[in-house]
Amino acid sequence: TLTLAGKRAIVTGGASGIGAATAARFVREGAKVAICDLDAESAQALALELGEQNCRAWSVDVADIERVTPFISDAAAWLGGIDILVNNAGIAIPGTVIQLDPANWRKIFAVDVDSIFYASRIAIPIMIAAGGGAVVNIASISGLRGDHALVGYNAAKGAVVNLTRAMAVDHAPDNVRVNAVCPGLIETPLTQAAKDAGLWYAWTSTIPMRRAGTAEEMASVVAFLASEEASYVSGSVIVADGGMDAA
Ligand code: NAD
Repeated sequence: TLTLAGKRAIVTGGASGIGAATAARFVREGAKVAICDLDAESAQALALELGEQNCRAWSVDVADIERVTPFISDAAAWLGGIDILVNNAGIAIPGTVIQLDPANWRKIFAVDVDSIFYASRIAIPIMIAAGGGAVVNIASISGLRGDHALVGYNAAKGAVVNLTRAMAVDHAPDNVRVNAVCPGLIETPLTQAAKDAGLWYAWTSTIPMRRAGTAEEMASVVAFLASEEASYVSGSVIVADGGMDAA
């Protein structure tokens, strides 16, 4: 069994997809979870579903340091500390380097990379003061390679991968473990557009497992990394993609 009973966790982008599945899994494993999202209504609905004593939702734009900073402090106060931070909120905007609008390039970096810096710089000192903790960053296999017409996302997720390694090295002596998960193609609202556009078969047929992953399958990997079961795992980049990156 995972040892998440009594753990105090924060999950960004917790209203949907991988973040929502992670929050639900954490609660099922006995943790108390603070979630934040741009979509306040869905976040609140999930908190009610998981039980108000187990989960509380905040309306936060993680790209805005003025919102993230007080959120982490408020969440820590409600939780009574922070053992786990899952930096999950993220967006993808397509385009090659000549197609992508500069404002969208900046937006991708603000949501996918800056947010991790903003949340971690407040959460990690709180973890250190209490003896340690675990950070899990949701990167992507897009951060390990160049997907066609997705330059901003590829670059931002590549930054998340190496930010993970750097944070892990710096805070290993503080007993704070930092790891990244690189999901492949996962069936969530983020990838719904591809489904709607009829791209699903073309995409899934190139995956060795011949299917997309589920948000719950990603939550399993996050839960492992966040738990004491991964006590000697830090600075690792765990690919969870049905064999896609190996092919
Ligand atoms: P999703 O769109 O279902 O969920 C993302 C959540 O983040 C949403 O609830 C959204 O409202 C929230 N969010 C977006 N911008 C935000 C902001 N500025 N502030 C606060 N919240 C914000 O997507 P998902 O598929 O669950 O993706 C979660 C993470 O997994 C992302 O970092 C994504 O890049 C990564 N990922 C997803 C896939 C996939 O195939 N779905 C693959 C690799 C990586």
